[in-house]
Amino acid sequence: MKPLALITGASRGIGRAIATELGRTHRVLVGGRDRAAVAEVVAALPDAAPFLADLTDEGAVATACAGIERLDVLVHSAGVIGHLGPVADAPASAWREAMEVNVIAPATLTRLLLPALRTARGLVVFINSGAGLHASPDWSVYGASKFALTALADALRAEEARQVRVTTVHPGRTATAMQAALRAAEGRPYQPERYLAPEDVARTVRLAVDLPPGASLESLRIAPAPR
Ligand code: NAP
Repeated sequence: MKPLALITGASRGIGRAIATELGRTHRVLVGGRDRAAVAEVVAALPDAAPFLADLTDEGAVATACAGIERLDVLVHSAGVIGHLGPVADAPASAWREAMEVNVIAPATLTRLLLPALRTARGLVVFINSGAGLHASPDWSVYGASKFALTALADALRAEEARQVRVTTVHPGRTATAMQAALRAAEGRPYQPERYLAPEDVARTVRLAVDLPPGASLESLRIAPAPR
């Protein structure tokens, strides 16, 4: 039987590329809220099923997780940019949204699936960001949520050291719908040829997945090469 991978945010962008990459070797659960987009990704993979849930709805997530007793790979790719701008203008609602989707949702999904991950001696991958390593003006909300995600990953790695491996990937700008919206918000042109491709990030996840069980890829920063 093929190993099982669950990828959140797999209806498009980086998550979709990871689902496609892992689909070559794994049975894939395709996470997302957009039913039609998730169905399209499922149909394009050799062995896949939908994992439909709003990740901020704990009840819906628990229902979607029911029956998963063994999980080899869990990739957290779902995320939002949320508010861009100075702290002076960031309302509490923007902080709450970013923390809900980027931090509390992956923490909750991980907690629900830890028994299945332990059973498989599995791997958890967090798609973080360069913004989770360096704070910049106007990026407080997103950056703080990604710094928190680093803390979540590091604590989890230490707690589960004997049973579950934990990898954080910090991509730079990647050519996706999120990046297009971001560039529009910044009032700057979207130039996908200058960014990482989602498939580049997927290949870093493949590196972590393919390591032998005695080795753990803890953290990896991937950036567009100068061109
Ligand atoms: P994207 O194209 O906007 O895709 C975001 C994904 O997250 C979609 O599949 C969306 O699913 C899902 N999602 C969002 N909120 C959700 C919720 N409440 N419940 C369930 N699913 C939800 O983004 P991306 O560019 O692929 O980014 C993926 C990850 O990489 C994010 O964590 C992002 O922070 C990180 N990242 C991106 C870049 C970049 O330049 N693009 C750079 C560094 C890091 P539905 O639409 O189906 O709801």
